[in-house]
Amino acid sequence: MIAPERVIELARKLGPDGVPAYVYDLAALDAHAAAIRAALPRAVQFYYAVKANPDAAVLRTLARHADGFEVSSGGELAHTAAAAPGRPLAFGGPGKTPAEMAAALELASPAAGTSRFHVESAHELALLDEAARAAGRRADVLLRVNLPGPFDQEEQAALVMGGKPSPFGMDSSQLRRCTPPPTSVRLRGLHAHLASGVGADGLLAAAGRLVSFGRQWCAEHGVTDPEFNLGGGMAVDYTRPDAGFDWAGYGRGLAALARPGETLRIEPGRAVTAYCGWYLTRVLDVKHSHGEAFAVVAGGTHHLRTPAAKGHDQPFAVIGVEDWMPSWPRPGVSGRAVTIAGQLCTPKDVLARRVRVSRLRAGDLVAFGLAGAYAWNISHQGFLMHPPPAFHYLA
Ligand SMILES: *Cc1c(COP(=O)(O)O)cnc(C)c1O
Repeated sequence: MIAPERVIELARKLGPDGVPAYVYDLAALDAHAAAIRAALPRAVQFYYAVKANPDAAVLRTLARHADGFEVSSGGELAHTAAAAPGRPLAFGGPGKTPAEMAAALELASPAAGTSRFHVESAHELALLDEAARAAGRRADVLLRVNLPGPFDQEEQAALVMGGKPSPFGMDSSQLRRCTPPPTSVRLRGLHAHLASGVGADGLLAAAGRLVSFGRQWCAEHGVTDPEFNLGGGMAVDYTRPDAGFDWAGYGRGLAALARPGETLRIEPGRAVTAYCGWYLTRVLDVKHSHGEAFAVVAGGTHHLRTPAAKGHDQPFAVIGVEDWMPSWPRPGVSGRAVTIAGQLCTPKDVLARRVRVSRLRAGDLVAFGLAGAYAWNISHQGFLMHPPPAFHYLA
């Protein structure tokens, strides 16, 4: 892939001793989030799923464009309320504890703070009611539903969290255990998050199913001005870093789906922040083993776990460095496939497998792209006790 000039410039400035490092291009993120917002109908609310990347500077940048934030733990809730104060928060995720619910209710206000709870079961609804009663507040709730198929081909390819047995949400038949709602709860609508990595057509098909089921369900259960949270899962193609999700097509589809008096809300994570992050490192060694070439870089999957978690090749750009001080020949490869491994003593510490490079030598810098979501914050950073990366921000 091609790295932007400003990222290359920073990498050269940091030099070998300044990496591994993460760079978040906040100017690029700002422009990208503005474009997402502009592609969506005004009536569709755009929340950012904080679990994709909770970096405070990232959240502050997104607060300029997103209508709110989806948080999935007490930790994310407190962190987001501090980093982007006064914004609406939707509290979702499995296994919410009474203490987390109490903390969320503490932050609740009609305009900001915890404005919605995404409830995962009838038991959780009862716990929330109890917490709300103790706090003297009312909890505004979307019930998370796991609708049955049929799903189209693309959805099937990506289905991981719904449409099959799952710890997330409720079967449509279970929803009846949540009505009528307990006294300190107000039902506002339904929530569904199907999967990660779905294209616009697949997501629109899923949205259509949720909304048509939800309209009828809400009408039957006296939920007026219903809200439908369509979840996240917008695809990021790691094999084609330049091809983004079709926000324009998705926005047109949502515009066709939306009806006055209803609220549609989305909560993407990966497709919002993946593109703004870069993981910079340097090549420590290049070697050959049983006929294949390996480059060992500083850091590895304990900093950037995405390729290990998803089983893909993380796209990268090589930034050539001409200095070579040692008196012995410089190890390197040119015009052939190389596997890029990190510093961990495990065969799983691979960032990219058998990727053809025009040249890669010990001492060169490497910039891994699409490292702004599910990257640093999902990494097992304590393993082997290597130092953490540095963090830099391009404003
Ligand atoms: C993870 C998650 C999201 C965000 O998913 P992305 O694939 O990052 O867009 C949104 N909603 C829920 C409930 C999630 O669990």
